[in-house]
Amino acid sequence: MSFPKFYKCLHRLCPDHTLHCLLMCVLLCTQEELLVGAPRVLVTGATGLLGRAVCREFHSAGWTVIGTGYRRARPRLLRCDLTDEDAVRGLLHEYKPDVIVHCAAERRPDVMERHTEAAVNLNVHATSTLAKEAATCGALFLYISTDYVFDGRNPPYGEDDSPNPLNVYGRSKLEGERETLRHCPGAVVLRVPVLFGEVESVTESVVTSLYLKVQEASEESCTLDHVLQRFPTDARDVAAVCRKLSERARQDPSIRGIFHFSGKEQMTKYEMAVAIAQAFNLPSSHLIPLTEQPAASALRPINSQLNCSRLELLNLSVEPRPFTSAIIDCLWPFTPDKRWRQTVFH
Ligand code: NAP
Repeated sequence: MSFPKFYKCLHRLCPDHTLHCLLMCVLLCTQEELLVGAPRVLVTGATGLLGRAVCREFHSAGWTVIGTGYRRARPRLLRCDLTDEDAVRGLLHEYKPDVIVHCAAERRPDVMERHTEAAVNLNVHATSTLAKEAATCGALFLYISTDYVFDGRNPPYGEDDSPNPLNVYGRSKLEGERETLRHCPGAVVLRVPVLFGEVESVTESVVTSLYLKVQEASEESCTLDHVLQRFPTDARDVAAVCRKLSERARQDPSIRGIFHFSGKEQMTKYEMAVAIAQAFNLPSSHLIPLTEQPAASALRPINSQLNCSRLELLNLSVEPRPFTSAIIDCLWPFTPDKRWRQTVFH
């Protein structure tokens, strides 16, 4: 109901309380307009490490958030198998988001080598469906990609440098980028390196899982890779960049195409583990740096450092949190007196 109609109704009911009616009317209409006017974001992979942070970031900035998950979907999150085209179409037509942040993916390179078909279905085909539907319903599409699209031989990499993925995961994410930009030319692709954040269990991220190695101090020595150079990045910083990009891109259609965002501290797994030990005042002498490339089923780039100047020049970046304080933030719930904490978006 419009403001004048609502006012007339109230005034008819209680003509002696003109001022009260007017105030109540202003309050209720403003509330309604705020809810109706809030932009809507649909976050896929909202049960995952990055998706949870993205939901929280947009929610606290006043957006209406629609989060989707699959196996872990819980109350307040929608369950949707993104590889089911009809389900994706139905979802977008029902919720009509202004922005879609597509976080859902299979992101474990070794799992991808073993279950290639299912993972390609999610990383490529589901992305393609979402991009087509985003273009049809006029939503801004933000696709999360990875530094693994590069081979790591000639860092740092700018947005226009030629990708050359070394493994199935990197190839599938690169194909997802191409599908995104083919079906939805106004889309944004955000490449990020290895992530950590508020995890549901320490093993949820390769970075936080190093805490287990640190805790093995009383046992035998523990070797850790000291060859592959990484730039651990806090999912909360990525989430803030997603929000800034979304807000700007909705106003300015020239904000589209590929962007890079990354933490600034270069570390091997060995160096991350030592930093974690120091952060928690734990011994690190049992940690042994391994200077030969680790055996894994999927090849990984040696150093796929991302040059992030495009975001910075447009004032769309955030200052990455320092690794030590960020990792303390994420791991404290797992210190001996607090083993577990629920972190899914409420
Ligand atoms: P994650 O924690 O493994 O979460 C994956 C998400 O995908 C979960 O929410 C999962 O839902 C959902 N999902 C899986 N299969 C699905 C299906 N068939 N239909 C719908 N949803 C499905 O991943 P993440 O670490 O947050 O990664 C987010 C994005 O960042 C990905 O695009 C990834 O490629 C990229 N990235 C991640 C890293 C990293 O280190 N984590 C590094 C670079 C780039 P359920 O769990 O509910 O089934």
